[in-house]
Amino acid sequence: MRMVYTNENRFLVANARNLLELQGVEVILKNEFASSVIGEVSAFDAWVEVWVLNDDDYEKSCSLIENSLSKEDDEEWRCSRCKEVNDASFELCWNCNEPVPV
Ligand SMILES: [Zn+2]
Repeated sequence: MRMVYTNENRFLVANARNLLELQGVEVILKNEFASSVIGEVSAFDAWVEVWVLNDDDYEKSCSLIENSLSKEDDEEWRCSRCKEVNDASFELCWNCNEPVPV
């Protein structure tokens, strides 16, 4: 099991997880519920981490995430359900989990 991604922005972390799950990669999140204990742990420890269960998926997962993040210059998109604006790298609406409109 290896960590493939972590960020202080948990929307980005959730996006990375969604991205990998859409590709059939088995992942788990660590520290997902750590925000409730901020103050007892350092801010860095509370970052949510994405881990792949199979080491064989590690390199594929890293490049998937890199490709997704490199799309950051693309245009933002607006959710068709809740009308929130999402970063181009998001595969699902950060607010309601609606997929990117096609
Ligand atoms: Zn939405």
